[in-house]
Amino acid sequence: MALTRITLNNETRFFDPETQTYKTKQLHLTDSELESYKISTLSKAVELLSADQDTNDESKLSNIECAFCFEKIAPTDKIRNIPCSHLFHLACLDSWLTKFNCCCPSCRFDLTIQHNPPI
Ligand SMILES: [Zn+2]
Ligand SMILES: [Zn+2]
Repeated sequence: MALTRITLNNETRFFDPETQTYKTKQLHLTDSELESYKISTLSKAVELLSADQDTNDESKLSNIECAFCFEKIAPTDKIRNIPCSHLFHLACLDSWLTKFNCCCPSCRFDLTIQHNPPI
């Protein structure tokens, strides 16, 4: 059931046709939510991701593209560790999460803390 997005006085609300009510849904991450996801580098993240897999780090590292800017992410570039393990440049992801959407752009994983308490 699709919600209709309505913006009133800088506040975004969603009209739910099923219940005929307005809902407020968090659209962006707050700074503290963002900071709860640790900053790392690509090479460190790939090391962790492939720790229990039989993968070749070298080829994995050279083939990771940022879905925002379509540039390759260099092994020394900073990334943010998000639960769904998708990788983006730190700056690209942060501006997306604080200005546009609170979901991972690749898999729509909801990154708000209320849904995903830190482990
Ligand atoms: Zn990028
Ligand atoms: Zn994702």
